Amino acid sequence: MILGECPYCKGVVSSKNITAQGKKIKLYSCENAKKEYDESEQYVFTTDSSCRFRVYSNAFLRWNKRSFSEREMKKLLQDGQTVVRLHGRKGTGEYFKYVITDEEYGVSVLWEEEVEDKDTF
Ligand SMILES: [Zn+2]
Repeated sequence: MILGECPYCKGVVSSKNITAQGKKIKLYSCENAKKEYDESEQYVFTTDSSCRFRVYSNAFLRWNKRSFSEREMKKLLQDGQTVVRLHGRKGTGEYFKYVITDEEYGVSVLWEEEVEDKDTF
């Protein structure tokens, strides 16, 4: 499924289902950011990759957001930012943060920014 345009190289960003460590997740990646296993079993960018923009749907798992959806990824590509709902540890409340694209890490959370009007998301 095509989600939008890569903010770094204007390539096509699409989603695909992958299995990582036994879990089914989605990978949103720029067509110019391909990875493969090399001879020493390292997962590296292919030599013809000119971009590094890749986002895994479990990018926010650490903050108890199970999945960053295709819809959220589309919005991120379209607007350059989106808002995600994160959760504290068990029993603590949820909170909202802005997320922007990051050339190296795919996504990056703006921890310093407060989300004013979360109802619009
Ligand atoms: Zn790209």
